[in-house]
Amino acid sequence: MTWYIRGDIFTGEGFERGYIGFKDGRIVEHNSGTPSGRTVAEGYIVPCFVNAHTHIGDSFIRKKNIDLPRDVVELVAPPHGLKHKMLREASEDEIIDGMIGSIDVMIKSGVSHFCDFRENGIDGIHMLKKALDGKKIFSIILSRPQKSEYDKKEIEILLENSDGIGLSSISDWEYPEIKKIAEHTRRKKKIFALHGSEAVREDIDLILDLKPSFLIHMIKATESDLIRARENNIPVVVCPRSNAFFGLKPDIKLMRQTGVDIMLGTDNAMLSPPNVLDELKYLKNMCREFSLKELLNMITYIPRKALNLDYNILGVNSLADFVVLDKKSLKPVYISYLETK
Ligand SMILES: [Zn+2]
Repeated sequence: MTWYIRGDIFTGEGFERGYIGFKDGRIVEHNSGTPSGRTVAEGYIVPCFVNAHTHIGDSFIRKKNIDLPRDVVELVAPPHGLKHKMLREASEDEIIDGMIGSIDVMIKSGVSHFCDFRENGIDGIHMLKKALDGKKIFSIILSRPQKSEYDKKEIEILLENSDGIGLSSISDWEYPEIKKIAEHTRRKKKIFALHGSEAVREDIDLILDLKPSFLIHMIKATESDLIRARENNIPVVVCPRSNAFFGLKPDIKLMRQTGVDIMLGTDNAMLSPPNVLDELKYLKNMCREFSLKELLNMITYIPRKALNLDYNILGVNSLADFVVLDKKSLKPVYISYLETK
């Protein structure tokens, strides 16, 4: 039996009024007009979301309800930041339980793909894979070495077991070491990404010489830094709720003016749950200039392109991977993979 959803279908370029018919997990019709069968939901029809930046390994810390320091270096900078100390002291089960909680939050909120910056080398990759067991979600795992140095063998193993490398920032590294890792990752045609200019401005030339697939934060980036990123087709992932925790605020209007591609991430799961739609709503309140089309692109087509994911997603024969949003509240009223139809 074919089921239908109708409303404004989001194409990335804008919205098309119409309907989608789906059957056994696949889209079988995509048309304008009125569907011939039962409509199960109505609203904005949007591809499932991509959360472009998470660290779900620290989810367990949120449950502890402790007063975390509101300073980037004190809390999250490797290796001495409090989070890394807590990760070292926690048991594997505790970390994995926290990850499972965050994965469930994402699944229930319409996130079909998330890009996790995995700490703790190969062990960190294995923990995430255990947490993902049997879950209806796709992960893009960007791993990192145990220590802030290049070890050819270790990188080899990490790249064999993950989608690429995701590092903290050039300030935490001896530059020649990070350069070797970036080059090694590129030779293997995997993703290389890193945090940039989060609490202090970092040298954009040194960052761009690493040829990253995308950058995280860029809060302290200047207009010319952002233009350089755009000219090099490097999107920026913004995580405004995590930034706010540290008293930081990305210059989102400037980013918009420079035309750099923006994606959304939820950053450390110990700070906010990885519901990327909540991040979108937060950003919407921060910057009223963004149209709904611009906002939705940040969690759908732009990250899909940057992460080499399936791009033709609401057409006939594609997987029925969509969310229907209420047009007023933007709350999901139907998430395809949560239904049995
Ligand atoms: Zn991060």
